[in-house]
Amino acid sequence: MLDNKSFREEAHKLVDWMADFYENIESYPVKSQAKPGEVINQLPVTPPAKGESFDQVFKDFESIILPGMTQWQSPKFHAYFPANSSYPSVLGEMLTTTLGAQCMIWETSPAAAELEELMINWLKPLMNIPEKWTGCIQDTASTATLAAMISAREKKTNWSINQNGFDNQKIRFYCSSETHSSIDKAVKILGTGMENLVKVEVDENLAIIPSALESAIKSDLENGFLPCAVVAAVGTTGTLAIDPISAIGDICQKYNIWLHIDAAYAGTALMLPEYHEMISGIEKADSFVFNPHKWMFTNFDCTVYFIQDEEALIKTFEILPEYLKTSTRGQVKDYRDWGVPLGRRFRALKLWFVIRDFGVEGIQTRLREHISYAQWFADQVNEHPNFEIVIEPKLNVVCFRMITTEQAEKQLDQLNANLVAAINGSGEAYLTHTKVKGKYALRMVIGQTYVQRNHIEESWQLIQTKANALL
Ligand SMILES: *Cc1c(COP(=O)(O)O)cnc(C)c1O
Repeated sequence: MLDNKSFREEAHKLVDWMADFYENIESYPVKSQAKPGEVINQLPVTPPAKGESFDQVFKDFESIILPGMTQWQSPKFHAYFPANSSYPSVLGEMLTTTLGAQCMIWETSPAAAELEELMINWLKPLMNIPEKWTGCIQDTASTATLAAMISAREKKTNWSINQNGFDNQKIRFYCSSETHSSIDKAVKILGTGMENLVKVEVDENLAIIPSALESAIKSDLENGFLPCAVVAAVGTTGTLAIDPISAIGDICQKYNIWLHIDAAYAGTALMLPEYHEMISGIEKADSFVFNPHKWMFTNFDCTVYFIQDEEALIKTFEILPEYLKTSTRGQVKDYRDWGVPLGRRFRALKLWFVIRDFGVEGIQTRLREHISYAQWFADQVNEHPNFEIVIEPKLNVVCFRMITTEQAEKQLDQLNANLVAAINGSGEAYLTHTKVKGKYALRMVIGQTYVQRNHIEESWQLIQTKANALL
């Protein structure tokens, strides 16, 4: 068993291993090439009765676990959205783990609560979030959006469902067909059901058509439904489509409906003043979520949730059992009342480390670089006769596909699926796909913390080589 002395020795070795790992990250396959069952079949079916040496455990980590890991920190990880890390963030996480604090209320670690409040205060003006809003850090955007939708449900029904359960209220939520699956999941959990999630029609840019939203609300009112909340996307997962916040905000105000903004990925771009227009009209909204754990160099998990009416949130989630009563109640922020879980990790620490280490300008420089690499990539695709852009690229995401003169639409879908498989099977880069207006498309996301232009050139080379082999 590790003791303080051997912990010190092993930890020193581990830090060296970690630095080497980041230095050599490109030598690992980006997407794990493991087959189903490959990892578990190499490990004993029962746990050891007696403790083993850390050396032995670590050897198994290197030889069995590591090959079964996809390298999310590789600069050639272009799949999904990044879950990026950075050196200051890793150091912050090491300290969070070392302190091992459970930060459910102010009393259980005052600094954690106050640093969390400070991070919200730092980010608000940078991102152009209204000054009078408050916020907190949550685990994931899914949970934050669930909290927003439950708060909306309760505000709409004067907190009666929390108290009495449903009494035949026919509550409706609205979002576009392009919004994230976490909205579908939220309506399942919060008890209104998928049938009461209205998917509003989108325009050619895949953004909500405000007049379609208003017609849906009007027709619901005529039919005895209770329109409750709209979830607007600033950056959908497929293509980074941006719903028109200001126009949607007007409609929400007119019908007294909660407006929640899901900017899980693209929210980070609000660190750049030139992208503030993405949320113009934000003052008409009620809540907003974005994930520093995606594109803001801060390890998963770290979600920032901003809210206009803090009281409505707390009134929805507040609990006060005897064992949680404290004398500081009312003077401090007890974040256990701000969302679903009671227990909370000290997530503000890594975010604070990242912002201080990079500086605001350092973060902005990287974001602008990533966006410029994506523009360069889009130009290459545009100029190539065997490729096309399928929808106007946004920020650092380019949706594109391979095309040929001979093949029909349907065959093109298969051809592009084969291309994705060939790229990912090489282990040299990793990207995933989406459907854009029915067409199978590849998504190139350029957002790993330390990605450089040469990585994108190499990935583009790889894509062309694999495409040529399929022709
Ligand atoms: C990633 C993403 C989510 C879900 O984020 P989690 O933090 O994993 O719950 C929600 N909405 C959008 C638009 C996303 O891109």
